[in-house]
Amino acid sequence: MTAKELKVIIGLEVHVQLTSLKTKLFCPTPANYRESPPNTHVCPVCLGLPGVLPVVNRKAVEYAIAVAKALNCEISDKLIFVRKHYFYPDLPKNYQISQYIGPGFTSIAKNGYVTIYVQGKKKIVRIRRINIEEDPGRIIYIGSIETSPYSLIDYNRSGVALLEIVTEPDMENPKEARAFVEKLIAILEYLGVTNPELEGAFRVDANISFEGYGRVEIKNIGSVKDVERALTYEIVRQRRIIEQGGKIERETRHWDPEKGITVPLRVKEVEEDYRYFPDPDLPPLRMSREFIEKIIKSMPELPDERIERFMKQYNLDEYRATVLVLIKWLADFFEETAKMYNDYKKLADLLITDFLRWVHEYNLSPSAIKATPTHIAKLLSLWDKGILTSKMVKELLPRIVLEGLDIEKYVETTGYVRITDRSYLHKIVEEVMNENPKAVKDALSNPKAINYIVGLVMKKTNGKADPQIVKNIIEEMLNKLREGS
Ligand SMILES: [Zn+2]
Repeated sequence: MTAKELKVIIGLEVHVQLTSLKTKLFCPTPANYRESPPNTHVCPVCLGLPGVLPVVNRKAVEYAIAVAKALNCEISDKLIFVRKHYFYPDLPKNYQISQYIGPGFTSIAKNGYVTIYVQGKKKIVRIRRINIEEDPGRIIYIGSIETSPYSLIDYNRSGVALLEIVTEPDMENPKEARAFVEKLIAILEYLGVTNPELEGAFRVDANISFEGYGRVEIKNIGSVKDVERALTYEIVRQRRIIEQGGKIERETRHWDPEKGITVPLRVKEVEEDYRYFPDPDLPPLRMSREFIEKIIKSMPELPDERIERFMKQYNLDEYRATVLVLIKWLADFFEETAKMYNDYKKLADLLITDFLRWVHEYNLSPSAIKATPTHIAKLLSLWDKGILTSKMVKELLPRIVLEGLDIEKYVETTGYVRITDRSYLHKIVEEVMNENPKAVKDALSNPKAINYIVGLVMKKTNGKADPQIVKNIIEEMLNKLREGS
């Protein structure tokens, strides 16, 4: 068997900050540290000073339960925290308060799943467990990690609430891994527990191996796009080693997004021993059925439910519904526009292709988009009425997105409308056919070649000619030529 035929196995570990929380996980320190100077969002608890007592943030537990339910997990009725020991300057207590599955321990949730949709195929990715844990501080290097003469520590992030979400190794290629992370982020956004746009709000570690070979862990991938890039790079690297008869080291690698490569961090000789033990400062808490049910009852509509509703309410296929719903602001935009315009399929197509492309092209955040649902509804109506051609719609769209161009006014004042005047178009067609005798010869024997002449006429009229009328005129003229010969 060659390396090309070997199965690739990918599992993910996603760390998500619950950025909607006002305070940290075990202390009343404000959690919105991003704009603040280093070491200003700290207190004795998150600095790990002796003699302090952590008190769990109730809202964090409620968020975790909502996430667990949204990921179809079994939710524990006990809340148990453990100490995970390791020695590193970003961790002032020398242990992290986390959760663990083992005798006498349990995570807040386990055994869930997420449905993803990749290239027309539906797939289930199982969730192994969800832990609530605290974020460590941040080590800051001067320049790069290799050349920094010293390092600085900022404890602002220390003690911020995280969820660690671990999948089973169910993904087989980078596209599936990306689709999983996209879906997960969408679910968290719908729940309102995190803002994925914030720097460091979610970090992905990926485990990847070829079946039968050593497993490599890639640490700290910071964007959806980089999940796909890092795994694609790693597949190429590992495949090359296997094909040359080499051995894949079991190791941890670091993703360098600038260079687009992974670099070795450390070789894993043995499983790290974190000496987990129950945190005596946080005795196990029993969570009542009512407490859990109340949270579940107050959950908003989630992506899967919305996809299903879009399919029913707007008669969209699963693909279109999924693309729209996974980008929450786009789905909201669609629904607002759908109140004014009812060819839903046409609307969905415009939004998920050209509209989204221009938003990305101009690198606009949702709030910076100048186009409103009214703009888009008007644009589509003018297109339906035949006042604009599809080419004109495509041409005007970027100005609507960027400037909020009022399309009705624009058409009125500039006369930028589709040309339907038959005698005028007849003249243009005649010109084009005289200038292109070879194209005419082709079209006489091959009906498909007519489209080429239609294209030339469209070009000559800056895309404003009505293509159906142009086509009819060309066909008439070709018929005359056939009769004449
Ligand atoms: Zn604190």
